[in-house]
Amino acid sequence: MLIKRFMPNEYLPSVLDLDLEHLRENNIKGIITDLDNTLVEWDRPDITTELDDWFFFLREQGFQVTIVSNNSEHRVRSFSEPNGIHFIHSAKKPMGRAFRKATRRMGLKKHEVVVVGDQVLTDVFGGNRAGFYTVLVVPVAQSDGFLTKINRKVERRVMKRLKDRGLIQWEDQQ
Ligand SMILES: [Mg+2]
Repeated sequence: MLIKRFMPNEYLPSVLDLDLEHLRENNIKGIITDLDNTLVEWDRPDITTELDDWFFFLREQGFQVTIVSNNSEHRVRSFSEPNGIHFIHSAKKPMGRAFRKATRRMGLKKHEVVVVGDQVLTDVFGGNRAGFYTVLVVPVAQSDGFLTKINRKVERRVMKRLKDRGLIQWEDQQ
């Protein structure tokens, strides 16, 4: 059923809630994460202290991380580079190419990587379609950029359909 392609494997309040122990038990070694409204608000240029600590902790725990974002090179580079985070900009999600490229660069297989993001239509659908384990998070900010606003409208309809069909078992966190 096509609609299942929009279902994440997990739905969490924030990236910070990723259960690293659980990931490790499932042989996950890498995290591909979206940037805007997943890590920080779409209009915030810099990392937060909390996130900085989280990235440090991830590295310490042996996880690799790559930011895969549809946003421009300027936005993604200026966020990632000062913090030493690998990134792919202009990713064209939900196309799977950037996910595969990030996985290759980390020297991992797709079953060793999770894809995390705040959008059903790009992050979850794209990740699922490319064969990754997907995690949907609640957007950091309530506001969105212009294109995302249009996506959200479609997303609300998809989420409602999943719910109507009883395919969403988790609490509605939005
Ligand atoms: Mg996003």
